[in-house]
Amino acid sequence: MAKVIVTGGAGYIGSHTVVNLIEQGHEVVCIDNFFNSHQVMWRHLEELVDRKVPQYNIDLTDATAVDKVFSEHKDAEAVIHFAARIYVGESVEKPITYFRQNLNSMLNVLESMAKYGQKTFIFSSSCSVYGNAEELPVTEATPFGLAESPYARTKQMGEQIITDFVRANPSVQGVILRYFNPAGAHPSGQIGEAPQLEQTHLVPIIMEVGAGHRKELTVFGGDYPTRDGSCLRDYIHVSDLGSAHTRAVEFGLEKAATKSTNNPSIFNLGSGDGVTVLEAVKAFEKVTGQDLPHKIVEPRDGDVAAIFATTTKADQELGWTPQYSLEDIMRSAWAWEQARPSKLKA
Ligand code: UDP
Repeated sequence: MAKVIVTGGAGYIGSHTVVNLIEQGHEVVCIDNFFNSHQVMWRHLEELVDRKVPQYNIDLTDATAVDKVFSEHKDAEAVIHFAARIYVGESVEKPITYFRQNLNSMLNVLESMAKYGQKTFIFSSSCSVYGNAEELPVTEATPFGLAESPYARTKQMGEQIITDFVRANPSVQGVILRYFNPAGAHPSGQIGEAPQLEQTHLVPIIMEVGAGHRKELTVFGGDYPTRDGSCLRDYIHVSDLGSAHTRAVEFGLEKAATKSTNNPSIFNLGSGDGVTVLEAVKAFEKVTGQDLPHKIVEPRDGDVAAIFATTTKADQELGWTPQYSLEDIMRSAWAWEQARPSKLKA
């Protein structure tokens, strides 16, 4: 059992990871300023795991505040760093905000780790580091592509900083997790995606259309070189991502004990399957038995045509394979769509 400091633990992937860590017997200390999450969701999480979980409401760009939390938890062994700005479109409009927030917060966390001796750093990266990959599926050996947005560039820079950091601090093991498209919600219906900012992701928007909160889904582009002309992505259930992080903590700590390398370990976290937007619509219709109004419109700026992962490395080295299907994703997201309004009431 390890004590793990989780930044951004109240957010979408963070909260599902915190639940999994606790279920697997680990102890969690969370840092989250609820910039893009809700305090009330933290209460649902605590109900789900049936205990109080320490939570610090601080801004990670405040180095003194970060240092204080780490100094109070010198016995923590691992750090999972989720907290970041996450919207591609917003990053194009506010690049400085993205560089300042995403990089400064990470630098503060790394500096405190180096001071207080945590042994493993797990970083939330993204398949956006691959840009428009020439060959699909992408493996961890696929080189960085041209970053399509400042958001993607902060992830590339984050990975480079970690590489230099662990080389200079051999007692720390770095694990870089490149997420594909997280979707779905916890099977309990207690927690799910609930951003403060406007929703732009496909699966929650499908749910909002299904529930009648939006008139129709606009499918961005119908003329891509894919099997039906719509964009192809790799959707991974958020609870599968949660269990992958727990494995990553355990893997990083095992590696720290054997000190086999000073390079970070990199893993793709996807399902290994490509799904088009129109196939996602069909999966929703199959699961709910209702038609989803949609129309094809112009492509969205910055979208790549197709990307999906190979997950062999995560399977072989992390011992992790996804358990949930696309239909499970749709079913749980639909259940969450029904539960969300009451869950967000204080
Ligand atoms: N998409 C769409 N309509 C929407 C939202 C998304 O057609 O209202 C498409 C988008 O073009 C992309 C896919 O759904 O091909 C996944 O988009 P999302 O924003 O969920 O994730 P991204 O892959 O951009 O990180």
